[in-house]
Amino acid sequence: MPELPEVETVRRGLAVVTLEQPIVGVDILLARSIALPKQPQAFIDHLRDRAIQQWQRRGKYLLATLDDGSCLVIHLRMSGQLLWLTTPQPPCPHTRVRWFFQRGAELRFVDQRTFGRCWWIPAHCRPEKAIPALATLAPEPLSEAFTVAFLAARLAHCRRPIKTALLDQTIVAGMGNIYADESLFLSGLHPALPTDTLAIEQIVRLHQVIRQVLRAGIAAGGTTIRSFVTPLGVNGRYGAQAWVYGRKGEACRVCGTTIERLRLAGRSSHYCPQCQPLFSAMGK
Ligand SMILES: [Zn+2]
Repeated sequence: MPELPEVETVRRGLAVVTLEQPIVGVDILLARSIALPKQPQAFIDHLRDRAIQQWQRRGKYLLATLDDGSCLVIHLRMSGQLLWLTTPQPPCPHTRVRWFFQRGAELRFVDQRTFGRCWWIPAHCRPEKAIPALATLAPEPLSEAFTVAFLAARLAHCRRPIKTALLDQTIVAGMGNIYADESLFLSGLHPALPTDTLAIEQIVRLHQVIRQVLRAGIAAGGTTIRSFVTPLGVNGRYGAQAWVYGRKGEACRVCGTTIERLRLAGRSSHYCPQCQPLFSAMGK
């Protein structure tokens, strides 16, 4: 699933290729890819002849501001891809939505698993109003608003495993499995530690490494696990430098111990049993 660094990489790519040019047509190949408006034809009508003025990102959401003040929001979910094509090409099997631009260019939403969604939101409506999950998102983790105090307050409220808590978008917006595993490794925290057992020094460290890991992910253009590519079809490079994610059975880069994987709340967690002990940390 694309996480903050992947979505930010997509945003930056879209901002280079799609701005300030009219959308000359829209084609919807799978109606349920459109969450709003309810009528797919209305989505087409509202976007035709509009131009995108800027792309923003909030958590894992992409938000395009259009020249009439309305907004196109896209969430890639499990497998969504946004591809920029400069020459006309027939749709591939998982093509769901196509935005056509001048001179044969196309922005194409490809989504094998079909969980991805697009919303068109009128100028008079705030996106947080139309998409309730946007309203409950934690502050952007790379912004000033994401403070140690915020993270500590949110973690103090529950006894969930820390890994599960980090995936909660109301605690860390944009976080997902890859960068949560990486953050816990660099914090020396076992993924199953109950959040309310963490000392403040551990939360300070965790807060610092969350930002460090997300920045490293962005700098590497994200991580390609199965399907992630930039709008221009480039793979992310973070996977090659990962500390633990996707490295089950391989040697820890710090101590040489074999990386293990466990399942927590249905998600796999990669960790080093030596660098991220469960019991000694809980004794604090
Ligand atoms: Zn280790």
